[in-house]
Amino acid sequence: MTNEQINKKLEEFLVLVEKNYSKSDAELARLAFDFADEAHKGQKRYSGDPYIIHPLATARKLAEMKMDITTVIGGLLHDVPEDTSRTLADIEKEFGSETAHLVSGIVKIGVIKYRGMERYAENLRKMFVAMSQDIRTIFIKFADRLHNLQTLQFRPPHKQKRIATEVLEIYSPIADRLSMGMIKGELEDLAFKYVYPKEYEWLNKILPLKYKAKEKFLKKIQLIVLERLKKENIAVSEMAVFSRAKYLYSLYKKLQRPEIDNNLDKIFDLFALRVIVPTVADCYSVLGIIHNLFQPMPKRIKDYIAQPKPNGYQSLQTTVFDDKGEIIEFQIRTKEMDEKAEYGIAAHWNYKETGGKINPEQLKWINELVKWQEQTNNNEEFINSIKFDIFQNRIFAMTPHGDAIDLPEGATPIDFAYHVHSNLGNKCVGAMVNDQLVSLDHPLESGDVVEIVTNKNRKLPNHDWLEMVKTTMAKNKIRAALNKEKTSERKKLEGKK
Ligand code: MN
Repeated sequence: MTNEQINKKLEEFLVLVEKNYSKSDAELARLAFDFADEAHKGQKRYSGDPYIIHPLATARKLAEMKMDITTVIGGLLHDVPEDTSRTLADIEKEFGSETAHLVSGIVKIGVIKYRGMERYAENLRKMFVAMSQDIRTIFIKFADRLHNLQTLQFRPPHKQKRIATEVLEIYSPIADRLSMGMIKGELEDLAFKYVYPKEYEWLNKILPLKYKAKEKFLKKIQLIVLERLKKENIAVSEMAVFSRAKYLYSLYKKLQRPEIDNNLDKIFDLFALRVIVPTVADCYSVLGIIHNLFQPMPKRIKDYIAQPKPNGYQSLQTTVFDDKGEIIEFQIRTKEMDEKAEYGIAAHWNYKETGGKINPEQLKWINELVKWQEQTNNNEEFINSIKFDIFQNRIFAMTPHGDAIDLPEGATPIDFAYHVHSNLGNKCVGAMVNDQLVSLDHPLESGDVVEIVTNKNRKLPNHDWLEMVKTTMAKNKIRAALNKEKTSERKKLEGKK
């Protein structure tokens, strides 16, 4: 890449910052670019390009995601302290303590390498500590990873596979847990090519053919629906064909399910029509109108607006038949729901009314993991709890009042109780699931209504529960209750002396 090309990229980036942020933010970004450019002077990427193209691409992605300006600046500076002679103190002097703090979080994460369990666990620990201190570190890490994947062809094959596998096993599940669908999809598709090259090629070849075969039909249906909605005075903000082929790896994973058995024709939502309307009420009106136009397929109507998915995803979905029996799926949602599905937790930085703050509930699991890792020296145990808390599929179980509790697959009634309230857990003696009495180690399923049976005389959890529960939060709470009891016993004994 020539200097001229880099200057052009810088210019585009600054224009974007000025558009999405402000003129003074663009000036700050320019200063940060100059600082990073000077610091990385003489360094090269594996491609042979000047190093600065990497921090620039990272920052640009963050600006496209409309992250706050500190995060964008953090993207420009993220490799400075580790790879150059400029230090965190220099960054603090030039750009303030908030930026320096953010960059220090990324330096601490370092590179997660598969060199034995020990090192792997250690790096994961660091990553979650950094995330718990400032969730923006992981956003910078995502953008950093994306550019590294985009330039992965310049690395030797064994490194390509290792880096791409790490993305599929660690980064993309975290993105999913933060409901950042777009980042998850981009990370996965870039990694997919290196981890499963044959499957990637096959899907890439076959999908355009499938689309071509359906294109005419989709356009026809789209016109019918648009015309009808216009008649009913519903303002459609956007209507487009949504293709699952947009995210190849997630399609690939779906194909692996036993009921699909690698048969593309069994995936009904390979292509869907996505309708975006201004209000929630409009969403339900559109659903009614579509069902009036076409016969809905039984059991395929899903109301994720009233009952969002555990990661916060909201939408109405229905699969219908046209008059010739051809199948088509619709996804109906508001603009806000659509943004949340793409940007997830990062979308909250877009909204001025929230003041840039995110709901602490959504991040509670990170703090629980950090608390847990402070207490355990057992790496295997720690990795297992991470696997359960993040990498496991999530389910929703309901309280008798209809509150949804977000849990990992395999969670027990005791996990459920502790997620509702510590006291409910400590006093738990039994559980009813869908009105049936079950044992306390019974694995819950999505949609289960769980009623915890308590005994007010019970004060302490059972020590054996530590082996039974699946979530870090329940483990922390059981341990805390048992420790508290031990301390007060000791004090009593000491008092008697
Ligand atoms: Mn980097």
